[in-house]
Amino acid sequence: MAAFGSLSTRLTDSLAKLRTKGRLTPSDIDGTVREIRRALLDADVALDVVKDFCGRIRERALGAEVSSSLNPAQQVVQIVNEELVAILGGEQRRLELAKTPPTIIMLAGLQGAGKTTLAGKLALHLAGEGHTPILVAADLQRPNAVTQLEVVAGQAGVAVYAPEPGNGVGDPVKVARDGVALARSRQHDVVIVDTAGRLGVDAELMQQASRIRKAIQPDEVLFVIDAMIGQDAVATAKAFQEGVDFTGVVLTKLDGDARGGAALSIRGVTGRPILFASTGERLEDFEPFHPDRMASRILD
Ligand code: GDP
Repeated sequence: MAAFGSLSTRLTDSLAKLRTKGRLTPSDIDGTVREIRRALLDADVALDVVKDFCGRIRERALGAEVSSSLNPAQQVVQIVNEELVAILGGEQRRLELAKTPPTIIMLAGLQGAGKTTLAGKLALHLAGEGHTPILVAADLQRPNAVTQLEVVAGQAGVAVYAPEPGNGVGDPVKVARDGVALARSRQHDVVIVDTAGRLGVDAELMQQASRIRKAIQPDEVLFVIDAMIGQDAVATAKAFQEGVDFTGVVLTKLDGDARGGAALSIRGVTGRPILFASTGERLEDFEPFHPDRMASRILD
């Protein structure tokens, strides 16, 4: 995974060095933990997350069983792997579907995060599972956002509700509400509501998103975040958590070669699970997020 390229190399190199040693002394372990700490910080993982992570690795590595069937170096690799899985969320969390359809999914995030593209990806994915999603274009801020959603819906082969000019245009809350009502009447079992993003977090954006949330009572609010935004990830995620209280996270642009620290910070910082990963511009470049698989890719 490109977003973890450098982190991955540094972690595996530093763990590989342990293999040349028969027994590990506390100072060997401290040296490795220091390297891991630096690699994580350089990848823009949030400081608190790094501290906790390294603290647990150190404690567990120092206390590792001498009688284990694994040699000491393998034990440390296993500990790092388990702790990576833990900070990525532990168990895979699936999309929460409503007991009585339609399942309402609202997307939120900064402009350019990949929300509109994600709406298409998610719709294609759900349609592949036999669902009948409809996309709702409640992003009335960005020129072309409505058209872009229509294009994406066409590519995914799913329905779309886009506001007619003059008919409530300018009121995204109404568009979202009407879209959900239409989905109900046409018996779509999933509604995906795209909302406006801004280049930076602002109060008006949050209020609008929060009003949409109240109006449509979504089963899931997915916070879409560009994995490459680096250290801004934490502040952005916290602002959206406060503003719209999202239920899950989607990481986009994991194919990019910038530092993917956001991916490792987001769960620890927000307590919310990562549900999906987006790995390219095509609608097929999308997958449910598995913490264990991601950890293995990082340590591959
Ligand atoms: P929005 O403003 O949040 O709706 O973002 P868009 O869906 O318009 O996406 C912004 C840009 O990012 C577009 O050029 C997309 O093609 C691109 N994009 C979205 N997701 C990904 C991804 O996972 N990887 C890459 N490389 N590009 C992506």
